[in-house]
Amino acid sequence: MPESGGMILYPRECRTHILYYPGKSMHMRFDLHIHSNHSSDSNLAVDDILKRAVRNGLDGIAICDHNTVEGSLGAIRRAQEMNLPLLVLPGIEISTSDGHLIVLGVRENIPAGLPASETIMIARQKGGVAIAPHPFKKEGIGFAAKDADAIETFNSRCVFGENETAKNLAVSLGKPEVGGSDSHLLSTIGIGFTDIDARRTESAVLESIRKGKTVSGGRVIPLHIMMIHSARSLSRKIRRHAREFHSKIFLV
Ligand SMILES: [Zn+2]
Ligand SMILES: [Zn+2]
Repeated sequence: MPESGGMILYPRECRTHILYYPGKSMHMRFDLHIHSNHSSDSNLAVDDILKRAVRNGLDGIAICDHNTVEGSLGAIRRAQEMNLPLLVLPGIEISTSDGHLIVLGVRENIPAGLPASETIMIARQKGGVAIAPHPFKKEGIGFAAKDADAIETFNSRCVFGENETAKNLAVSLGKPEVGGSDSHLLSTIGIGFTDIDARRTESAVLESIRKGKTVSGGRVIPLHIMMIHSARSLSRKIRRHAREFHSKIFLV
């Protein structure tokens, strides 16, 4: 199996898509970090995410929208209605006062704006798994990641060595590692992933993440897609500034 920087990269053609074997522990591939149109910075419809995930050979996903579980709950419902061979985990990416924190396995919102340590405590009380996504990006929680249950050591949108720093931290602490694409576009779904050994149930997968029966991997997003992201984010900022400017003028 080819390895890259301690992360295993499976060529597509080496993967056989395994369907449901009840009660059996199996090797599954998840993209644990996708944004739907329930995030203000994504316009991906839940149905499109689900169909693309199946097409790309994923066994499961987690939609982790900014500060809301709505997208992931909708995805769980739709995957069942469409009878898709996909295990969808509930998830949310919370803006704590220290930076972003993903919680998997909760079906209600956890308030934003609290310190990461407090948010992690609440997540655990609710039975969730707290993950530090992209800890060394500007929006990450940095070394507070040491308190999380797992660290995202591969994020497809981290192109400046942040993944390597996250990996070093996880290895030095013996923390479970996960990976995800942080997709805001359909074309990047599944390019960052977590391989998990577990039975094909939500609780078994969450427990395997807690126990570190995971391998993170993938590839970073292509440059032209990075440019689309940057252009969109710039246009959002310009629109926001224009709205603020307009409202100030209007008040005057
Ligand atoms: Zn984030
Ligand atoms: Zn994200």
